[in-house]
Parts: sequence; C-alpha cells; structure tokens
Amino acid sequence: MADTFVCPICGAEVKVGTPSCLNCGSDDDTGWSEETLYDGLDLHETTDEYVQFERRKKISRLFTGSVAFFLLFIFIIKFIF
Ligand SMILES: [Zn+2]
Repeated sequence: MADTFVCPICGAEVKVGTPSCLNCGSDDDTGWSEETLYDGLDLHETTDEYVQFERRKKISRLFTGSVAFFLLFIFIIKFIF
C-alpha cells in the first residue's frame, strides 16, 4: 500500500500519480529539476535570511574592528603619557 516515493528535490513523500510534489512543486514536466525548487517562495526567504546573515556578519566584524582599534588607541595614549 506504500504508493509513495520520496521527492528527489525536497525529500517529501509524494503519492504516486500526484501531478506535482505538494511540498516543493516539482513535477514530471520539469523533470523534478532543481529549477522548480528555485521558483518557489523558499528562495526569497532563504535569500533574505542569507543577506541578513551576511549583513550581521559584516556589522559584527566592523564592530569588532572598531573596538580593537579603540583599545589600541587607549593603549597607545597610556603608553605615551
Ligand atoms: Zn518536493
């Protein structure tokens, strides 16, 4: 009775005979290709999260750099006086 197969794109169980994967929308017409996956809304969410992640990484790196520079500056001031 296990008339399902695993979607090669998203790994969801798809009933045999279902025109397309209910989870990611891949179907026979697209050849269960990865392109279908990238047509989905998931890409935008993933991209936004990735951009935010990159931005956060950049900000934290900038912040760490500023703090290090500030401490070095304090150290130099103390060393001189
Ligand atoms: Zn799928």
